[in-house]
Amino acid sequence: MVTETVTFQKVLKWTDEECRTYLEKQRWPSGVCCPRCGVLEPYRITRKSATKNTVQTLFKCRACRRQFTSTVGTIFEDSHIPLSKWFAAIYLMCASKKGVSAHQIHRQLGVTYKSAWFMCHRIREAMKDKGVLTPLSGIVEADETYIHPRTRRGHPTWHEKVKDEIEMGLRPKPEKKAPYQDNPTVFGMLERDGQVRTMRVPATTSSVLKPIMGRMIDMQKARLITDGHPAYRDIKRYLPHDVIDHEVEYVRGDVHTQGIENYWSLLKRGIYGVFHHVGEGYLPQYLSEFEFRFNRRKVSDAERFVALMGQTEGRLTWYCQTPQSQNPHA
Ligand SMILES: [Zn+2]
Repeated sequence: MVTETVTFQKVLKWTDEECRTYLEKQRWPSGVCCPRCGVLEPYRITRKSATKNTVQTLFKCRACRRQFTSTVGTIFEDSHIPLSKWFAAIYLMCASKKGVSAHQIHRQLGVTYKSAWFMCHRIREAMKDKGVLTPLSGIVEADETYIHPRTRRGHPTWHEKVKDEIEMGLRPKPEKKAPYQDNPTVFGMLERDGQVRTMRVPATTSSVLKPIMGRMIDMQKARLITDGHPAYRDIKRYLPHDVIDHEVEYVRGDVHTQGIENYWSLLKRGIYGVFHHVGEGYLPQYLSEFEFRFNRRKVSDAERFVALMGQTEGRLTWYCQTPQSQNPHA
């Protein structure tokens, strides 16, 4: 394993070959093994590209005789973008509190905007929490918020224009309304001084929120704090529940929801300020990105980078148009 701190300056200087070595050590700390059959010590083949001045390292399994590279089954698979650029993009995304736009990656790393956009989405995919999440315990603040499509002062957004045109009969009414179209509502739970979990919800009713809270909160060890929203009305049957009525007061001793509200403002500053407009279908991806950084807010940028590199494995299941039903963050 690489033990020294990986700083941004160092990562920027890495050659593609050094990046590949890093990736190999990260994926296979006890020696390269075949991703299909797990047999150790494959043959190492180096091939010089005929057209470009690059050397490609391939492995060939001793048992199944198949060839593989160190990027197979990771977010880098099938990408023509050099690994050194991928690593720099990952470092930027892990280190900037409010996120980096694809435009900035495009300018700073000299890749096309399209490639930058694609890289950002693949990196967000790796930022998604994998495996079983520990249920939240202790004081848990829950709240909901709306992510509005950006409105420019005096200028209608594309969505508003379309809406007006439909009303005036200039545009046919869409046959089927996409789910959540007018309602990009996000529900979030924050363990005080701990982890945050957010997800897009179709509505803020108790029938939607209760099962989510049941899944994500340890009912035996948690105390819930919310505002006076009617969706939480009968939750005290399951766990201790304190309400802070925002029409009356914002803080009463340790009863407040400032933690989750701070998180919302960070998320919104990122979404409105950096990304300007987030396609509503992509909202879940942005939520995982902000969650990843926030849940690792107490570690250094370098440690966050290492954490992400440990999550790059796993075949890409999400592709531009994954139905919302298959998306765990939806
Ligand atoms: Zn094999």
